[in-house]
Parts: sequence; C-alpha cells; structure tokens
Amino acid sequence: MKIAILSRNPKLYSTRRLYEAAKQAGHEVDVIDTLQCYMDITSSRPTVRYHGEELPRYDAIIPRIGASVTFYGTAVARQFEMMGTYNINESVAISRSRDKLRSLQLLSRKGVGLPRTGFASKPDNIKDLIKNVGGAPVVIKLLEGTQGIGVVLADTAKAAESVIEAFMGLKANILVQEFIKEAGGADLRCLVVGGKVVAAMKRQGAEGEFRSNLHRGGSAEVVKLSKAERETALNAAKVMGLNFCGVDLLRSANGPMVMEVNSSPGLEGIERATKLDVAGKVIEFIEKKAKANASNSTKG
Ligand code: ADP
Repeated sequence: MKIAILSRNPKLYSTRRLYEAAKQAGHEVDVIDTLQCYMDITSSRPTVRYHGEELPRYDAIIPRIGASVTFYGTAVARQFEMMGTYNINESVAISRSRDKLRSLQLLSRKGVGLPRTGFASKPDNIKDLIKNVGGAPVVIKLLEGTQGIGVVLADTAKAAESVIEAFMGLKANILVQEFIKEAGGADLRCLVVGGKVVAAMKRQGAEGEFRSNLHRGGSAEVVKLSKAERETALNAAKVMGLNFCGVDLLRSANGPMVMEVNSSPGLEGIERATKLDVAGKVIEFIEKKAKANASNSTKG
C-alpha cells in the first residue's frame, strides 16, 4: 500500500513510529507536511500539490493534525477523502473532536459518563452556574487549553467566582466542571484503534497536583481497565466517529467519566509505559480498511 502520514514534523516520536511500523509491514510511506500542501478544488478531479508537484494517489492517510492547524489540516485531509483515499480519522470527526464543548454535548446525548459540566458565555448569575454543577470545589477550564494549561481547581465558591470573572473579562470561553476528587490526581488514557482498546495507562499527577498531564510532571504506568471503563472508552470513540484516538477517563464514584477524546493521540507516553506496539496496530487496522475502501470504490 501507499500510505501518507500528514504531519508537520517527521522527527516527532509518533510520526516516526507510524512511519517505521508502516515500513516494517512492507508499505510505501511518505511523511507530508500538511501546511505545505495546496489544493486544486475547482476541477472535478481533486488533487493535492506539494513542492510544485501533484502528489500520487495514496491508498490511506494518517492525519496527525496539531490543534493550532485544525482548520487547514482538516481541509487537506478532506481533499484526500474526495480523491477516494482512505482516511483513518475522517476530517469531520477531527473537527468535531477539537471543539471540547461540542464533544461533550455529543457524548452526553449518547449517555456516555461525563463529569457534570456547565458552559456559559456571559452569565449574569455565576453563583448559579457553580451551584448547577454541584458547588465548589469545581474545575474551570479554558475551552482552547491543552496539556493542562488553563485548567484551574477552585476550592471555594468565592475562588470559583473570581476565576470565572477573570476568564470572562479576557473574553475566554470556559467550562465549569464538577471536581472528581476521588480520581486522586490520576486519569486513564485509553488508546482506541478500530473499535478496540489496544493500550491503556494510568497517569498520576505529581505530588500536590490534581492534573495528571505528563507535561506537568505526571508519571505513567500500565493499568488494567474494568469492563465499564473499556466500554466507556469504546463508546466515546464511536460517538466521536474516530477510529484512532485517545480517550481520557476519570475514575469516579459514579463510574468512568470521559474528560476528553483526542484525535491525534501521542504514542510516546503510552508505548513507553505499556511496551506495546500501538503504531503497528494502527497500520494493521489501515490494511484491513483501505483494502475494503479500494474494493468499494472499484465497485462504485
Ligand atoms: P487538557 O486537555 O489541557 O489536558 P484536561 O481537561 O484533560 O485538560 O485536564 C487536565 C488534567 O486535570 C486531567 O488529565 C485530570 O488529571 C485533571 N482534571 C481535569 N478535569 C477534572 C475534573 N473534573 N476532576 C478531577 N480532575 C480533573
């Protein structure tokens, strides 16, 4: 097969691992810088051009689109889709997953476990917003934050009001969420590939830190998921329409709760913690799907 990995940097661990796994399985692989692609969208024969030449037809693409380039990155992925190339994570699903609020709304509609969450733009009653998610302590999150930046724990209603007012003064969109204390500063990262949890790890925040992000000094270890946790992760991936994603769960007294579904999950932390070949699983899944996609398009 001919596979393209859409990634801005071939040196990144996840990009390298996917490249190696595809090569090892005997495929032709190119790493393509998404932002260097340009497209002809006017003709009835959609193409993608790159460094002055038309790109060949790929059987499959693996989009690794950073949060800061979602708009253009998903447009490039969509162009490949229009050319009949199999895309492991469809562009619409990536766009959907990048909007935290929209994701939570979709997950809640399908009854996936979530922390109680409120969202508001300019509420005249901040006290009620806090009360509505169960009162302090609450977690306040910037909608556009990543890697734990812009995630604040407010212990008291007074502190929560001040933080909410401050964020709103900056015209930032925020979520107000019930604090799941019993998670103990830990969360579960479940790596889903093709409707299976292929690896899972528990991330524990550093001493005195409620955020478990590895970038914030958290540590990771292998974890055995309960049936409910596995089902919740798979359900979340399905609702989001993602074949390859990371689902972050909190262990709460009321069962597993989804915090986030990530459409470009990093492989470094999870492969190091579990010693599993996640990249290999991604390629295996693509082999099955791209073949089915090719035979469908010749039939059609
Ligand atoms: P980001 O997407 O920036 O990583 P998250 O929403 O995943 O932000 O939050 C960062 C970390 O903070 C999580 O990994 C988790 O450990 C902790 N956390 C987030 N929300 C809650 C919550 N409602 N209750 C308890 N801990 C939380």
